[in-house]
Amino acid sequence: MEISVVRGDICAVVADAVVTAGNSSLVGGSGVNGAIHAAAGPELLRASRALAPCPAGSAVVTPAFRMANTSWVIHAVGPVYSGPQDEALLASAYTESLARADEVGARSVAFPAISTGIYGYPEADAARVSVAALRGARTSVETVYLVAFGERTAVLWERALS
Ligand code: ADP
Repeated sequence: MEISVVRGDICAVVADAVVTAGNSSLVGGSGVNGAIHAAAGPELLRASRALAPCPAGSAVVTPAFRMANTSWVIHAVGPVYSGPQDEALLASAYTESLARADEVGARSVAFPAISTGIYGYPEADAARVSVAALRGARTSVETVYLVAFGERTAVLWERALS
């Protein structure tokens, strides 16, 4: 699997599947999830709600509806950070996303920095955990884009990869 860091808005990244950092009730909300729901249109909310609840550490997949850059949205739910013991749940959000990608035949997947916004996961730790989880996964996904919304996220991911 090839992993690369890209800067910008995940709604503009071309990939077979795009991951959103959802909440367990799979409703829109703010941050990356709000941006993806806005881009995909109201059909996304109907489709994701039907699959709720989705506990932390798990992921579900729906079509991407009005998004032109991707075919699938993978709704991953990361942990609300409470301490280092949340590492397994964060890793699982990444590996479960790859499992959903495999189920729909997606070979390229774009990830945001799950749990590092409102959910408060320390960014450096999250970068390390996400890269280790992706590298350790058994998957047919060939290309992963780590989409950094800010410069600091990009630097931390580059560091975790090197
Ligand atoms: P969580 O609730 O899992 O913490 P957030 O959406 O609050 O999710 O934040 C997760 C990460 O996504 C943060 O690093 C935030 O800066 C980033 N982010 C927010 N909007 C976008 C976007 N449009 N594209 C890519 N990343 C984004």
